[in-house]
Amino acid sequence: MCKSIGAITVASPLALRRRSALASQLRRLCTLLLFACLPAFAATVDPGVSAGTVRIGVLAFRGAETAVDEWSPMLDNLSQISPELHFELLKLDHDGLRAAVAERKLDFVITNPGHYVELEAEFGVSRILTLVDALAVTPERAIGSAVIVRKERQDLQTLDDLRAKRLAIVGREGFGGFQIVWKELLDHGIDPAQDLAELRSVGLPMDGVLAAVERGEVDAGVIRACMLEGLGERASIFRVLSPRSIEGFPCATSTRLYPNWPMAALHHTSPELARKVAIVLLSSTDGAGPGWSVPADYQSVHELFRSLEIGPYTYLRKPGLIELAERYWPWLLGLLAVMAGGALYTVHVEHLVHKRTTALRAALLEREQLEAGIRASQEQADHLARLSMLGELSGTLAHELNQPLATIGNYASSLSRRVDNGRLSDDAVREAAGEIVGQAERAAAILGRIRAFARKRIARRELFRPAIVATEAISLFRGMLAHAPEVELIDHLPEERMIEGDPLQVQQVLLNLLKNGYDAARELPPDRRTLIVGIEASDGEVRFRVRDHGPGLDKEALRHLFEPFFTTKPDGLGLGLSICKTIAEAHGGRLSAAPPDDGPGMIFTLSLPANV
Ligand code: ADP
Repeated sequence: MCKSIGAITVASPLALRRRSALASQLRRLCTLLLFACLPAFAATVDPGVSAGTVRIGVLAFRGAETAVDEWSPMLDNLSQISPELHFELLKLDHDGLRAAVAERKLDFVITNPGHYVELEAEFGVSRILTLVDALAVTPERAIGSAVIVRKERQDLQTLDDLRAKRLAIVGREGFGGFQIVWKELLDHGIDPAQDLAELRSVGLPMDGVLAAVERGEVDAGVIRACMLEGLGERASIFRVLSPRSIEGFPCATSTRLYPNWPMAALHHTSPELARKVAIVLLSSTDGAGPGWSVPADYQSVHELFRSLEIGPYTYLRKPGLIELAERYWPWLLGLLAVMAGGALYTVHVEHLVHKRTTALRAALLEREQLEAGIRASQEQADHLARLSMLGELSGTLAHELNQPLATIGNYASSLSRRVDNGRLSDDAVREAAGEIVGQAERAAAILGRIRAFARKRIARRELFRPAIVATEAISLFRGMLAHAPEVELIDHLPEERMIEGDPLQVQQVLLNLLKNGYDAARELPPDRRTLIVGIEASDGEVRFRVRDHGPGLDKEALRHLFEPFFTTKPDGLGLGLSICKTIAEAHGGRLSAAPPDDGPGMIFTLSLPANV
């Protein structure tokens, strides 16, 4: 009787009686093989494993009170390895066993196949043996699960009937206690997480599941296959759902079969010690303690976990938001920090931009106000300059106007006298009236030009023909002088050539240049008083040249000519040319002065950009 094997796998006397001859033969064969390969193993004790305590962790699925007794024959066998070695068994639950492996507190671990696959993936434990169960078909096909219901529940016949029912399990991490059935339920289109009314975890020991079903607290429960067969009389109140018929397997199971529990060595365990433990356990043929075989193939457990996406295959599961957050929280935190930093930086930049935009606007406004002020001063200065020029010319203006007015007066007196004498003919009246109209028009034209020239106005830009402006300036100039010099206009421009600017300002410049030419030659004989105004275009410019035949200017005077308040005249202001220069530059042009090559005098040139 191999009591200990039954205690581990199904914990029942029934199991002890059914240990198959096949399993014993298999064990013996393996033992012989190992003996052949590794002679005299027990006599030689490796120095590295010769002393100290060897700890074996066992998953206690039936509770603390049963575990030690079941395994104590195994410990006795192991003590053969060396008198110096003390083997200790630690009975732990699922999490406790995992923690002990993680902390390297164990040298060996005996656990269910599912848990083993997890530990293998996570901590590199490697199986050295697999438990032999007399009830198993083979070590690879040993563990199944039974879904039990109370016998009288006729509404529950197959696994399909579990939809929307209450199911008791030991816990979600239980291999035979849940995970095997989970897969079967999924194959029947039932997702335990969604399609059951309740999935109740009652915890270890597994007897709690039986109790819950028995009391009717749940509709069904999951227990390890063969547990029911060990219950004796009590088993009669239960029935197994969807029982499978598996050849060579004596128990009712609702699931396919999976490999039996393995014993695994931890990553740090000496291979020599592992080898010796394996050999001793494989060779213990006395029937005391559990039987062991060479390690089984756990591929079917891997496939189960892969299809359930658990254990080492959890990564296959599509992660939910919470799982993603749990997995990537440091990245999320970093991302949030970067985003917060970015937001703060943006706010800071916005603030700076706002501050600088406000400052820039204020500066622009100030500049605009300043420019407006300068423009107004410039216009004022222009106006004053025009008035000043008119003032200088107005001495002779009286004489100029006197002539048409006197003529008008003479004709009016003559008409009056003829009326008195009774000699007034129609022809005489017509002739006098014609003369009076002519003289009045002449006077009105003179005054009109002066008014137009003298009026206060805002500078403007328009397209105009240079010759028209020059003609206007000459007419105004000559109209205001009693003994005006001859002014010759030589226009070399094609008729369509235009320039853009303020015609009145250009006229002002020309008038100033004509007046200066007149002043320079005023004392000279009449033939040298003639002024010449030439208009020509080249290099994208239109040039007005005003030539006089006066005494000209020496080099020193030429250097200061355009400076404000430079004057050689006793009553001069010295502002005319500097204002003219400003006007030229405001039009994008320039004003220059040079002595002519062909005789005395000066040539002043006003150059303006040609528009067409
Ligand atoms: P103002 O006529 O009030 O003196 P301007 O700025 O018009 O002021 O002229 C400055 C000075 O330039 C004049 O006083 C004169 O000495 C000199 N000037 C200007 N034009 C001529 C010219 N055509 N020939 C000789 N000197 C001139």
